Amino acid sequence: MKVIFLGSPGAGKGTQAAVLRERYGLAHISTGDILRENVRNGTTLGKTAREYMDSGRLVPDEVIIAMMEERLQKPDCQKGFILDGFPRTVPQAEALDALLDRMGISLDGVILFEVPGDLVLDRLTGRRVCGKCGEIYNVHFKKTKVPGVCDLCGGELVQRDDDREEIVIKRLEVYEEQTAPLIRYYEDKGQLVRVDAGQEGELVVAAIERAVGQ
Ligand code: AMP
Repeated sequence: MKVIFLGSPGAGKGTQAAVLRERYGLAHISTGDILRENVRNGTTLGKTAREYMDSGRLVPDEVIIAMMEERLQKPDCQKGFILDGFPRTVPQAEALDALLDRMGISLDGVILFEVPGDLVLDRLTGRRVCGKCGEIYNVHFKKTKVPGVCDLCGGELVQRDDDREEIVIKRLEVYEEQTAPLIRYYEDKGQLVRVDAGQEGELVVAAIERAVGQ
């Protein structure tokens, strides 16, 4: 399975990618996760990316494209991959097409996560992430047994800096302006499959599996 997950922040791409990664042993490649790790480790990439991320803007295309060229060559991608949060602009999509061509890889589909706007806001501002294992929770929709503590590993839950409401609003604007044009881009190439991502998680997973013929 080689797929792109497309959809606004808070559409549930990361949550469903984690389920499918487990089920099929895929590489789950989240550009946001890679960038956050670089910020935590204080790398040159992290230092460049941080100011963009903190203000809800996109990191420049050339930085992201170079990062992904390297990531997609790693051996764990051979069994299949989910691209979560990449591409996010038309130039990124064009660079990805060229790279996959060079590598002789064809995509099984581009899944568009469709979800109502008010649900997205609650998902983002309510999202909490385990600082230790990365499991995703939500104070409205997916509570932990003990508030603030991860059910899986006992780690402390944190809110991403960019999940604060004022930054979330900026991220949603950036999505509409820079990423939503990719819907048309992949529709024109006949690769887009729309999935109702407002429904219950297992149903979303089943719809994705059907879309890619699993
Ligand atoms: P995410 O976790 O996917 O919501 O990404 C968090 C932040 O990382 C975004 O708001 C951007 O600043 C940055 N980012 C992630 N993926 C990309 C990308 N493909 N292109 C540019 N910036 C990105």
